[in-house]
Amino acid sequence: MRYDHGHPFLAIPGPSVIPDDVLRAMHRPAVNIYEGPLIDLTHSLYPDLKRIVGTEGEAFIYISNGHGAWEAALANVFSGGESVLVLESGMFALGWGEIASRMGLDVEILNAPKRCGVDPNAVEARLRGDTGHSIKAVLVVQIDTSSGVWNDIAAIRQAMDGAGHPALLMVDCIAATGCVPCEMDAWNVDVVVSACQKGLMTPPGLGLVFANQKAMAAHRENGCRSSYWDWTPRANPERYYQLFAGTAPVQHLFGLRQALDMIFAEGSDAVYQRHRAIARGVRAAVEHWGRGGPIELNVIDPIARSDSVTTILTGEIDADAMRAICEIDFEVTLGIGLGQTVNAFRIGHMGHINPPMLLGTLGSIEMALTRMNAPFSAGGVEAAAVCMAETINNQD
Ligand SMILES: *Cc1c(COP(=O)(O)O)cnc(C)c1O
Repeated sequence: MRYDHGHPFLAIPGPSVIPDDVLRAMHRPAVNIYEGPLIDLTHSLYPDLKRIVGTEGEAFIYISNGHGAWEAALANVFSGGESVLVLESGMFALGWGEIASRMGLDVEILNAPKRCGVDPNAVEARLRGDTGHSIKAVLVVQIDTSSGVWNDIAAIRQAMDGAGHPALLMVDCIAATGCVPCEMDAWNVDVVVSACQKGLMTPPGLGLVFANQKAMAAHRENGCRSSYWDWTPRANPERYYQLFAGTAPVQHLFGLRQALDMIFAEGSDAVYQRHRAIARGVRAAVEHWGRGGPIELNVIDPIARSDSVTTILTGEIDADAMRAICEIDFEVTLGIGLGQTVNAFRIGHMGHINPPMLLGTLGSIEMALTRMNAPFSAGGVEAAAVCMAETINNQD
């Protein structure tokens, strides 16, 4: 029996739910891309994006998805053959490393312990061993969307400083921007990579890269720039169209403007608190379900659990069958397990989300598990509701 009237729920970790106001802001004909309101609107985006990642460095907006932003960052600071250290904590750090490797960089991977975040002590030990300072950059993901790990970027920077190593610190914040705090300058991060389709609530299509002075200096020394990604003309455009190396992504810029307005109207601290309360609700539900069976949170250390996406292991319960019931019968789309050796699924809880959207998602999962006769402890929705209410009270 299908229930296909009402609002469908998208609970995947990107693209996330797009607010109607963002869609409306985008629903307009093409405008003049040489002069007029689009130019001012575009220039207004840069300071606001920098505010969200906490930097006074340079910001670049590319017409691309996150993979493009990954490549943009790498193409600007390296020449072929240099070494990078990738701090693995899930599939996405590996994905970035793979691109680096295909671009001719020498990639070394430092694996996190299974189901854990990056261990700063291991980073410090590895960098101390690099006495010749051949590692040019450390690549890490703030929230790895496959494992659901949140990495402590400030602690990783401290580990690098502890080792006295001069490598650049480059961080993928794609699943974190607009969901959890990012303090690029305070944490002394040299490059931040992001994208618009997760916490920034805009349809996929804008890749974001931020660079501090040290990264810009590395860029100036880089001998093999690619024309499209090149920071130099984008940082100091003589003409507006150089900002995008061609036609501006007109409708996306209007959409992103609206999304940023919504974030600042709510207040970025309030946005982070909302993500925190909702994420705690997810975790309370999963822990409750697990009392009567194999369901459990993937990330073992509570500190390393992300506030924007949760990866859930299901043991002998068929996660794909559960997802299919949710999707086909209840119109709730959940994230597939990525890179897990066991049954898993993911819940995206980033961007335009509130408690009823989450409770509806969790309730549908419970219905699916019940219909499957799966071994789990019913009542996760109630546990999530109580946990969110308590968290919200404590935040007041
Ligand atoms: C989504 C995501 C990416 C990839 O972004 P695409 O837009 O799919 O290319 C990279 N890193 C992280 C952490 C992500 O969440």
